[in-house]
Amino acid sequence: MNRTNIQKPIESLNHYFAILKGIEYSFSYKSLNTPAKAQKTLKNMWIEHDKISRKTKNESTGELEKPVETSFSYLDLKIEIAEELFTRCIFCERRCEINRNKEIGYCGVQNSKIASEFLHMGEERVLVPSHTIFFTGCTFNCVYCQNMDISRNPREGIFIKPNVLANIIDEKRESGSLNVNFVGGDPCPHLLYILKTIRLLKENIPIVWNSNFYMSKEAMCLLDGVIDLYLTDFKYGSNECALRLSEIPDYWDVVTRNHKMAFEAGDMIIRHLVLPNHLKCCTFPVLDWIRKNLGVNVVINIMAQYRPLYGAVNHYDISRHLYKEEYLKAIRYAQKLGFKNLI
Ligand code: SF4
Repeated sequence: MNRTNIQKPIESLNHYFAILKGIEYSFSYKSLNTPAKAQKTLKNMWIEHDKISRKTKNESTGELEKPVETSFSYLDLKIEIAEELFTRCIFCERRCEINRNKEIGYCGVQNSKIASEFLHMGEERVLVPSHTIFFTGCTFNCVYCQNMDISRNPREGIFIKPNVLANIIDEKRESGSLNVNFVGGDPCPHLLYILKTIRLLKENIPIVWNSNFYMSKEAMCLLDGVIDLYLTDFKYGSNECALRLSEIPDYWDVVTRNHKMAFEAGDMIIRHLVLPNHLKCCTFPVLDWIRKNLGVNVVINIMAQYRPLYGAVNHYDISRHLYKEEYLKAIRYAQKLGFKNLI
């Protein structure tokens, strides 16, 4: 495997770089006192899951422990729980509670379809080449979505069996990918499929969850111990903006809770796309919250590439490109707050 592309480590991404160097494992197989078949209710499985998740990290160092292979693994348990949740879907905080085997919820996703997968050279430098897998469908409905062709067409794309995708991921790893990067649309509706795929991987590879961060608390618990690096899209500083521009209820509460959970669970890079006219309501509050709750060492990518696509023309505030001065104000604000890892 070609590892010459590995970037200089950023201290806040220690776990990610340790996996790249083969020092740590991507996720932890843990021995289970397997509950008897008859006791496998969802409630009992959560109880077992919580017991194991408490043991997953070394208590003194906080590092993931070396995996122990067993016939019944932590990941298997997570998949069984996800299978149950799939039948009354609460993967994201829309909580449609529909049986995904028969019905379609807000995201429109039933079976997981893949729009494309390739070695992405346009992600953050520490991630490239990143084996990026674009799923169709999304839990948001952003009027300006830059990936509208796949986010709003959940039936497009092709279904690939998890074992086939796992082989593709292994092959890309062998040929030099630094990570596998699950994105969309959004990966959340595909949680069960993604867990099944990860179970079949042979290569030890950092797993990146590239998401709008509207997962349910239950989904966050299932991701804990599986995801190595959370690549978050922290868009809005106000519920009003989130509801008006992306049709998202309770955005702030959900996304801040999930950032706190992810920060505890793995490494993190936070993306923030600066929107025109949204410095005071969104950019500044988002940066203030990160500073207060996650500290100054968190890795942040403040992005300027907003384009007024699709329905953006119907919203006076976002119907133009970002001014250079707006972007510079965002950067200066972040610098003033003392962030040490602006990338
Ligand atoms: S993932 Fe889709 S079906 Fe499931 S709760 Fe969210 S929007 Fe509804």
